Amino acid sequence: MKVTKAEAMGTCFGVRDAIEEAMDPKFKGNLTVIGQLVHNPQIVQRLKENGVKIVDSLNDVIDTPNVMITAHGAAQSVRLRAAEVGFKVYDATCPLVMRVHRAVEKLVEEDFYPVVIGQESHVEVRGIVTDLNEYTVILDESDFHKIADKPRIGIVSQTTQQITHVYPIVEKIKALKNPDGSAKEVKFVDTICKPTKDRQKAVHKLADEVDLMIVIGGYNSSNTKKLKKVCEDKGLEAYHIEKVSELNPEWFHNKKHVGITAGTSTPHWVIDEFYETVVEIGKSLEGSTPNKVASA
Ligand code: SF4
Repeated sequence: MKVTKAEAMGTCFGVRDAIEEAMDPKFKGNLTVIGQLVHNPQIVQRLKENGVKIVDSLNDVIDTPNVMITAHGAAQSVRLRAAEVGFKVYDATCPLVMRVHRAVEKLVEEDFYPVVIGQESHVEVRGIVTDLNEYTVILDESDFHKIADKPRIGIVSQTTQQITHVYPIVEKIKALKNPDGSAKEVKFVDTICKPTKDRQKAVHKLADEVDLMIVIGGYNSSNTKKLKKVCEDKGLEAYHIEKVSELNPEWFHNKKHVGITAGTSTPHWVIDEFYETVVEIGKSLEGSTPNKVASA
């Protein structure tokens, strides 16, 4: 059984930098992260072992002098409130998330009505829209009625959305008409981040070559779910799992080529553990020597 890792997968620089900052020994026992720093259970466990506390929001009980904003970012009002309460605020917001915040600000300055393509409840989207006076979050076409009366629409996307989902929605919004029949003025700023695009392209490519895909990542990781969806849309058998102990040897029966990919929150040491285990499962099933392929 051949086992191949996707050409691009796993931890992106935004998540990696945030983890490194939180793991800094100077924070041992005196840092609270607001929200999940990464959607990965193994890293969250390591952070906790390192004395880092994690809460859902600023409204929770926080007994450390330092708080950290995650790579997903937060509204400026949240940063200011944390500082006003007396916390020292460390900001691990990914620069590519900050780019979305700036893009929306500029669109509003240019008098476009801000529209975000993404999941309304996702922490990144909450951070983007919370300080806006008016906005609409669109997940799919069923939300179009919310912008029917807006003549000038400025669109950005959550950084981890699928290209194949966002681009067609933008085209359909461009084709919408105002209630008086006139065309809408639509400006789109492509804010899907490059690591997400690279991972989506890599999974598309690998999905065409394998007969089973293992997708590694936290169950609450948005971009990991989307990697699995790419596979399912191609009719490929795929399993999204968090821990190596969840691998079921029965999945690999009669499989000749297995692909491995992982969301942007999954560290490479977790991917390596999966890879070695899948290779061992392949050996035990067939007694064959797997074809090792270098990771990205
Ligand atoms: S997924 Fe993209 S935007 Fe999010 S932390 Fe990683 S690089 Fe930054």
